[in-house]
Amino acid sequence: MDNKLMLMIPGPTPVPEQVLLALAQHPIGHRSGEFSAVMAEVTQNLKWLHQTQNDVLVLTVSGTGAMEAGIINFLSPGDRVLVGSNGKFGDRWAKMSAAFGLEVEAITAEWGQPLDPEAFRQKLEADTDKTIKAVIVTHSETSTGVLNDLETINRYVKDHGQALIIVDAVTSVGAVNLPIDEWGIDVVASGSQKGYMIPPGLGFVCVSDKAWQAYETAKLPRFYLDLGSYRKAAQKNSNPFTPPVNLMLGLQTALRMMKAEGLDNIFARHQRLMQATRAAIEALSLPLFAPDNAASPAVTAVAPVSIEAEKIRSVMKKRFDIALAGGQDHFKGKIFRIGHLGFVCDRDILAAIGALEATLRELGYESMTPGAGVSAAARVLTQS
Ligand SMILES: *Cc1c(COP(=O)(O)O)cnc(C)c1O
Repeated sequence: MDNKLMLMIPGPTPVPEQVLLALAQHPIGHRSGEFSAVMAEVTQNLKWLHQTQNDVLVLTVSGTGAMEAGIINFLSPGDRVLVGSNGKFGDRWAKMSAAFGLEVEAITAEWGQPLDPEAFRQKLEADTDKTIKAVIVTHSETSTGVLNDLETINRYVKDHGQALIIVDAVTSVGAVNLPIDEWGIDVVASGSQKGYMIPPGLGFVCVSDKAWQAYETAKLPRFYLDLGSYRKAAQKNSNPFTPPVNLMLGLQTALRMMKAEGLDNIFARHQRLMQATRAAIEALSLPLFAPDNAASPAVTAVAPVSIEAEKIRSVMKKRFDIALAGGQDHFKGKIFRIGHLGFVCDRDILAAIGALEATLRELGYESMTPGAGVSAAARVLTQS
């Protein structure tokens, strides 16, 4: 049967029908009054989603473009930065920072393990001359399913007093509590194809007053991603360049849906989906890649031993039309990842776990009791 694809990857994520219909409208002029009204509403609702009074600017980029904007607008060549790196995305920010001529000091952890906030504390406390200009951290490390302890790391950045904190929140915005104003996070980047329930193409950057002060003296070259021009335009509910108007219409609808659900309910749902998935994986005697105390509510990585991760993915796709994500870089073929981010409900988890059990059976996996995974997931999902 065609057209029953179920996306269980951590981006792009499934898109609700209401959003698809909004995307299907005729484009409207981006300098029109109608579009300004869309911009005004979307800007307000983005602030709501980010729990902030700071500017939240919308760019026509993927998540990486939003991070690039978050780096080049606030730093100068030769600036010393601490970059947390415990997965594909942390590595990417270290590479990007180096590409822009920043002096990178990486704080690393094994893939599958969280960053140690202590390592940040030591570097920041030792920096009495205040040469560290920014700390760059990935909140939810999608490549491994690890949620880094941003709150604690940020506290040490605040104790330092000078450094900015720049956060990749691409798979944490709309999935896990990130109170930007309460914590005082300076720059937060995210992308539309993750928790926002719309297709790829938009990047978001949330900018604090402190970061805007750094913007005034930052010397890295910038033009298309110069956030000052987006801020100026946003004050008039406009854009410096042509935005993808249909994606903005989709975003308008998606944000209305998110507001109707409520932030607490959204976070609770992601928590529940994560716990159900992890309970099921454990019940099937498959090893979870990330520890319980640092598990991302966006994605669960599994490291099967007696059975090949890529075979599991292949049968899941061919037999059940369920797309799971593979491992990245040196974890290619070693792990598979189940996305439960955005427009995902309890039923999706039950279906995915049921299909996974059938897949394991087909592949001759013997270390499980049939039904144990679904039963464990159901137990979590039916607890009130
Ligand atoms: C998806 C993702 C990104 C952005 O990737 P793009 O392909 O540029 O959208 C960045 N960081 C994390 C943690 C992600 O999950």
